[in-house]
Amino acid sequence: MMQLKQLLEKKSAGAVTVAASVSVGAAIQTMHKRRVGSVVIQADSGMPIGILTERDIMCLCAEGKTDFENMSLEDCMTTELVVGKPEDKVTEVLGIMTMKRFRHMPVVKDGQLVGLVSIGDLVKATLEETMQEAEALRNYITS
Ligand code: AMP
Repeated sequence: MMQLKQLLEKKSAGAVTVAASVSVGAAIQTMHKRRVGSVVIQADSGMPIGILTERDIMCLCAEGKTDFENMSLEDCMTTELVVGKPEDKVTEVLGIMTMKRFRHMPVVKDGQLVGLVSIGDLVKATLEETMQEAEALRNYITS
Protein backbone atom coordinates (compact mmCIF):
# COMPACT_ATOMS: atom_id res chain seq x y z
CA MET A 1 0.00 0.00 0.00
CA MET A 2 1.43 3.29 -1.09
CA GLN A 3 2.08 6.03 1.47
CA LEU A 4 2.19 9.83 1.08
CA LYS A 5 5.95 9.87 1.66
CA GLN A 6 6.55 7.85 -1.51
CA LEU A 7 4.65 10.47 -3.48
CA LEU A 8 6.52 13.34 -1.86
CA GLU A 9 9.86 11.72 -2.70
CA LYS A 10 8.88 11.70 -6.38
CA LYS A 11 7.58 15.27 -6.42
CA SER A 12 10.42 17.66 -7.18
CA ALA A 13 9.21 20.75 -5.31
CA GLY A 14 7.83 21.04 -1.79
CA ALA A 15 4.62 22.84 -0.87
CA VAL A 16 4.26 26.40 -2.13
CA THR A 17 4.03 28.60 0.95
CA VAL A 18 3.44 32.24 1.83
CA ALA A 19 3.52 34.23 5.07
CA ALA A 20 0.24 35.19 6.75
CA SER A 21 1.15 38.88 6.48
CA VAL A 22 0.92 39.08 2.67
CA SER A 23 -2.17 40.19 0.73
CA VAL A 24 -4.55 37.85 -1.08
CA GLY A 25 -3.31 39.57 -4.27
CA ALA A 26 0.27 38.49 -3.53
CA ALA A 27 -0.92 34.93 -2.82
CA ILE A 28 -2.75 34.86 -6.19
CA GLN A 29 0.43 36.03 -7.94
CA THR A 30 2.41 33.25 -6.23
CA MET A 31 -0.15 30.63 -7.27
CA HIS A 32 -0.07 31.91 -10.84
CA LYS A 33 3.73 32.05 -11.06
CA ARG A 34 4.22 28.60 -9.51
CA ARG A 35 1.29 27.12 -11.45
CA VAL A 36 -0.45 25.64 -8.40
CA GLY A 37 -4.02 25.69 -7.12
CA SER A 38 -3.22 26.44 -3.51
CA VAL A 39 -0.79 28.10 -1.13
CA VAL A 40 -0.13 27.00 2.41
CA ILE A 41 0.29 29.73 4.99
CA GLN A 42 3.17 28.87 7.24
CA ALA A 43 4.13 30.31 10.63
CA ASP A 44 7.78 31.16 11.31
CA SER A 45 7.98 27.93 13.31
CA GLY A 46 7.35 25.92 10.12
CA MET A 47 3.88 24.93 11.25
CA PRO A 48 1.13 25.28 8.61
CA ILE A 49 -1.62 27.58 9.93
CA GLY A 50 -3.90 27.93 6.91
CA ILE A 51 -4.56 27.27 3.24
CA LEU A 52 -5.94 29.38 0.40
CA THR A 53 -7.08 27.65 -2.79
CA GLU A 54 -8.59 28.54 -6.15
CA ARG A 55 -12.00 27.79 -4.64
CA ASP A 56 -11.57 30.48 -1.97
CA ILE A 57 -10.67 33.03 -4.64
CA MET A 58 -13.68 32.01 -6.74
CA CYS A 59 -15.94 32.48 -3.69
CA LEU A 60 -14.48 35.95 -3.01
CA CYS A 61 -15.17 36.89 -6.64
CA ALA A 62 -18.74 35.60 -6.41
CA GLU A 63 -19.25 37.73 -3.29
CA GLY A 64 -17.99 40.81 -5.14
CA LYS A 65 -14.85 41.03 -2.98
CA THR A 66 -12.16 41.70 -5.54
CA ASP A 67 -9.84 44.31 -4.00
CA PHE A 68 -7.28 41.54 -3.50
CA GLU A 69 -4.28 43.82 -2.93
CA ASN A 70 -5.94 45.30 0.16
CA MET A 71 -7.29 42.01 1.42
CA SER A 72 -5.53 40.26 4.26
CA LEU A 73 -4.69 36.62 3.66
CA GLU A 74 -5.24 35.90 7.34
CA ASP A 75 -8.90 36.93 6.98
CA CYS A 76 -9.53 34.77 3.90
CA MET A 77 -7.58 31.57 4.46
CA THR A 78 -9.10 28.39 5.87
CA THR A 79 -7.63 27.90 9.32
CA GLU A 80 -9.22 24.63 10.33
CA LEU A 81 -6.64 22.62 8.48
CA VAL A 82 -6.87 18.92 7.85
CA VAL A 83 -3.34 17.58 7.42
CA GLY A 84 -1.79 14.24 6.61
CA LYS A 85 1.27 12.38 7.90
CA PRO A 86 4.00 10.92 5.65
CA GLU A 87 2.92 7.43 6.74
CA ASP A 88 -0.72 7.91 5.70
CA LYS A 89 -1.97 5.61 2.96
CA VAL A 90 -2.80 7.22 -0.37
CA THR A 91 -6.18 5.47 -0.57
CA GLU A 92 -7.17 6.69 2.92
CA VAL A 93 -6.25 10.29 2.09
CA LEU A 94 -8.23 10.07 -1.16
CA GLY A 95 -11.21 8.95 0.92
CA ILE A 96 -10.85 11.90 3.33
CA MET A 97 -10.56 14.40 0.46
CA THR A 98 -13.62 12.96 -1.28
CA MET A 99 -15.67 12.99 1.92
CA LYS A 100 -14.62 16.49 2.98
CA ARG A 101 -14.73 17.89 -0.56
CA PHE A 102 -11.32 19.49 -0.81
CA ARG A 103 -8.44 18.77 -3.13
CA HIS A 104 -5.33 19.67 -1.18
CA MET A 105 -3.65 18.05 1.80
CA PRO A 106 -0.60 19.52 3.52
CA VAL A 107 1.69 16.87 4.95
CA VAL A 108 3.12 17.49 8.41
CA LYS A 109 5.88 15.73 10.33
CA ASP A 110 6.91 16.72 13.87
CA GLY A 111 4.92 19.96 13.58
CA GLN A 112 6.70 20.94 10.34
CA LEU A 113 5.21 21.21 6.87
CA VAL A 114 7.04 18.66 4.70
CA GLY A 115 4.96 18.85 1.51
CA LEU A 116 1.52 18.97 -0.03
CA VAL A 117 -0.38 16.48 -2.14
CA SER A 118 -3.25 17.35 -4.44
CA ILE A 119 -6.10 15.04 -5.38
CA GLY A 120 -4.51 14.93 -8.85
CA ASP A 121 -1.23 13.59 -7.41
CA LEU A 122 -3.14 10.90 -5.52
CA VAL A 123 -5.29 9.86 -8.48
CA LYS A 124 -2.21 9.68 -10.74
CA ALA A 125 -0.28 7.54 -8.25
CA THR A 126 -3.25 5.22 -7.71
CA LEU A 127 -3.78 4.82 -11.43
CA GLU A 128 -0.11 4.01 -12.01
CA GLU A 129 -0.13 1.44 -9.23
CA THR A 130 -3.33 -0.17 -10.53
CA MET A 131 -1.93 -0.37 -14.05
CA GLN A 132 1.32 -1.93 -12.82
CA GLU A 133 -0.61 -4.51 -10.83
CA ALA A 134 -2.81 -5.35 -13.84
CA GLU A 135 0.31 -5.72 -16.00
CA ALA A 136 1.97 -8.02 -13.44
CA LEU A 137 -1.19 -10.15 -13.25
CA ARG A 138 -1.42 -10.36 -17.05
CA ASN A 139 2.21 -11.44 -17.25
CA TYR A 140 1.64 -14.03 -14.52
CA ILE A 141 -1.41 -15.49 -16.28
CA THR A 142 0.22 -15.66 -19.71
CA SER A 143 3.63 -16.99 -18.60
P1 AMP B 1 -10.08 22.85 -2.71
O1 AMP B 1 -11.07 21.87 -3.20
O2 AMP B 1 -8.81 22.19 -2.22
O3 AMP B 1 -9.82 23.97 -3.68
O4 AMP B 1 -10.67 23.54 -1.38
C1 AMP B 1 -12.03 23.70 -1.09
C2 AMP B 1 -12.16 24.45 0.25
O5 AMP B 1 -11.57 23.67 1.32
C3 AMP B 1 -11.44 25.80 0.32
O6 AMP B 1 -12.16 26.66 1.16
C4 AMP B 1 -10.09 25.47 0.95
O7 AMP B 1 -9.53 26.57 1.67
C5 AMP B 1 -10.46 24.34 1.89
N1 AMP B 1 -9.38 23.34 2.03
C6 AMP B 1 -8.59 22.84 1.04
N2 AMP B 1 -7.72 21.95 1.53
C7 AMP B 1 -7.95 21.88 2.87
C8 AMP B 1 -7.37 21.13 3.96
N3 AMP B 1 -6.39 20.25 3.76
N4 AMP B 1 -7.87 21.34 5.20
C9 AMP B 1 -8.88 22.21 5.40
N5 AMP B 1 -9.46 22.94 4.44
C10 AMP B 1 -9.02 22.77 3.17
